[in-house]
Amino acid sequence: MKLSQHFDLSELTSSRKAVQLGIDNTPPAELIPRLVLLADMLERIRSTLNTPIIITSGYRCSQLNLAIGSRTTSDHPQGHAADFIAPDFGTPTEIARLLAPLVQVLGIGQIILEGINGKQWVHVSTHVPEKPINRVITVTDAGTVAGIVGLA
Ligand SMILES: [Zn+2]
Repeated sequence: MKLSQHFDLSELTSSRKAVQLGIDNTPPAELIPRLVLLADMLERIRSTLNTPIIITSGYRCSQLNLAIGSRTTSDHPQGHAADFIAPDFGTPTEIARLLAPLVQVLGIGQIILEGINGKQWVHVSTHVPEKPINRVITVTDAGTVAGIVGLA
């Protein structure tokens, strides 16, 4: 199912972990409109970067979210969030630095530069966090800090 010009529902639901564990990661029908809004945001990001972006994790049913060790308060099971990389553009740090000042313009509710277990990606959500300081953050194994702090 096509959600937007460049994004298919399958890209926002496919998960190697779900396949490994035999988890059905099909979103409930009522979440589809949210995933369309998410895809629309990803389109704006894609056209800003002017390169294809690769979704590494999108919707995660609560069972899958639990299995990967994510918090129950994560925006992924809500259909609000996606993690992505865009190697043709640059590193996750470079992507986050470009997008962070544009969150309002691009309608990005929250952006997180994540560097965990030796992997890096950019997390974006259509959901605006309650505290403005949490809108642009960096999360690493060492903890959470405000703003985009470059990762090596
Ligand atoms: Zn994420």
